[in-house]
Amino acid sequence: MDKIDIKSLDFEELENSIKEMGLPKFRASQIYDWLHKKLVTSFDEMTNLSADLRSKLSETYYITACEVARMQESREDGTRKYLFKLRDGNYVESVFMRYHHGNSVCISSQVGCRMGCKFCASTLDGLTRCLEPSEMLEQIYRIQALTGERVSNVVVMGTGEPMDNYDNLLKFIKLLTDGHGLNISQRNLTVSTCGIVENMKRLADEKLSITLALSLHSVTDEKRRELMPIANKYSINELMDACEYYFDKTGRRITFEYALVRDVNDRDEDAKGLIRLAGRVKAHVNLIPVNPIKERDYRETARDDVLAFKNKLEKSRINVTIRREMGRDIDGACGQLRKKTMDSE
Ligand code: SAH
Repeated sequence: MDKIDIKSLDFEELENSIKEMGLPKFRASQIYDWLHKKLVTSFDEMTNLSADLRSKLSETYYITACEVARMQESREDGTRKYLFKLRDGNYVESVFMRYHHGNSVCISSQVGCRMGCKFCASTLDGLTRCLEPSEMLEQIYRIQALTGERVSNVVVMGTGEPMDNYDNLLKFIKLLTDGHGLNISQRNLTVSTCGIVENMKRLADEKLSITLALSLHSVTDEKRRELMPIANKYSINELMDACEYYFDKTGRRITFEYALVRDVNDRDEDAKGLIRLAGRVKAHVNLIPVNPIKERDYRETARDDVLAFKNKLEKSRINVTIRREMGRDIDGACGQLRKKTMDSE
């Protein structure tokens, strides 16, 4: 029989599973505490359990643990990028960032990605597989354990499309924000999607207080289709309906991610379109100067033009920020570290 991924079980599931093994219920609390608070990676570290019990547990379950394959630290801002090796030998990337409001971790939701966005390095080799809830959690747990610093914010903006791994994403959110575990506030969690409309609506129905970010990147269907294949499936109009629905159900404002690509989506008509769309759904706009990847020839908008673009939005009372670029000196763009390592193997 295959062993059970114990870190993907929520508290109730663990209790039931422990009961099935004929063990008393309080063992579940102890084990859950070791896994999700003390962040151990082996049963041997669970010192309030007998050696007998620990070996019995390790016959039934396995504990997901990420092994650090590489780590790069930015000399500019202390941002750390981790390349983790998973149980089956696959790699994922995660990033640790220090902000004045607390530490933030950006995690991957899949090994690779099948969305095919033209400017993104994570999707160049397609999707290998989805991550389990435990593998999403473990990226955060390992970083908190390694740095010894509390992680207060989590963004699901690394490699992968979280709405293409919907059930595992929901389970991950449940575990991450559980009072018995790290207890990260839902308000401090952001999930970014390229815009899979059905699942944006399903997520709205969950009535969570997380932030949903939509990678918009263009204001016309035509241009969006050039950058993002998913735009062939859903129109901007359908996306805006989903955003409105999300806001109605949750009361949470959507964030539009908008990567500025020189001469592609940074013109005056683009700013006007963005003002219209952001106004319609009361979105917050996050401008990102595109991070050029060597496989494509998209160039970033010049700094002054980014500021001018931002000013246009502000004049129309759109809530807008420019994403602080962190870790540029360490292959900051999504998927670049993983790709470099895989290509050189
Ligand atoms: N699949 C999800 C989450 C992962 S991508 C999504 O599409 O939102 C996280 C964000 O980084 C997205 O907004 C994505 O469009 C953006 N991104 C990807 N490659 C980029 C690059 N080279 N420069 C700037 N932003 C990029």
